[in-house]
Amino acid sequence: MHAQLLTAARRPLVDAELPAPRPGPEQLLIAVRACAVCRTDLHIVDGELRDPKLPLIVGHQIVGVEVATGERVGVPWLAWADGECRYCTSGRENLCDRARFTGYTVDGGYAEYCVADARYRFALPATYTAEEAAPLLCAGLIGYRALRMCGDARRIGFYGFGSSAQILAQVARTEGRQVYAFTRDGDEAAQRFARSMGAGWAGGAGEHAPDELDAAIIFAPAGPLVINALRNLAKGGIVVCAGIHMTDIPSFPYELLWGERSIRSVANLTRDDGREFFQIAARTRIETRRQVYPLERANDALAALRSGELTGTAVIKVAA
Ligand SMILES: [Zn+2]
Ligand SMILES: [Zn+2]
Repeated sequence: MHAQLLTAARRPLVDAELPAPRPGPEQLLIAVRACAVCRTDLHIVDGELRDPKLPLIVGHQIVGVEVATGERVGVPWLAWADGECRYCTSGRENLCDRARFTGYTVDGGYAEYCVADARYRFALPATYTAEEAAPLLCAGLIGYRALRMCGDARRIGFYGFGSSAQILAQVARTEGRQVYAFTRDGDEAAQRFARSMGAGWAGGAGEHAPDELDAAIIFAPAGPLVINALRNLAKGGIVVCAGIHMTDIPSFPYELLWGERSIRSVANLTRDDGREFFQIAARTRIETRRQVYPLERANDALAALRSGELTGTAVIKVAA
């Protein structure tokens, strides 16, 4: 099979011809149709996440067809958890110390075939094509977990308006919330995009929101944004950091946290998050702006995300 292979961090992916993987016990062999690009893929390729499997096929927003049954399946970031540790047995398999992750510690979807544990794959709403469904698998799903952490916040700020925010803005709106989008200062194209996807207000990351926010989600991997968000937050509000990697958060006056404000991260996903999110996706049509790349141009997709020139989400189309 064709695959785009990471042989070492900070090196471009190489086009490789490999034998198709052999499914083990409980595993399915999946013919990949589409795999959306996540910022986490970039953190792995750029060496910002430690100890990936090497060589590695990255990609964890996989839509494919199970070869044995013809059934369409979605493969997410959480590939496996042990099911027996104190996290797994308390509904927090997302925190399992022994968890395996698709496209990081096991091979992912920038390839014609992958294998996945049958217990961790998702059924997908039939109303979405493979290209439409792929970004839902992490940008949508883990974004949704971050949105849940905001509780019943009515006014939510999104810092960084890319793959995840475009999906969450639509979910938030259907829940009757107001979305405030913060992009790079002066990036009017991104602000127009945010408004078109449901943000009621859009401005630069350094700007003051026109209203106090009840919550903010940080999608961009820049620690200083946490402080920008705190400055816009009402008392009792929460800042949720949705990414797996972020630059350091600078020190800040305690006054910004006072008034029962809080900061937390969101890590990975549970299968319950996925089932809940795909029920929402089935009854609410979620639109995404996508840039589609063929498998052999995976490096170009990563470069577009790295440079910030990408609008919406990049999707690698592997097969029709
Ligand atoms: Zn566990
Ligand atoms: Zn992801």
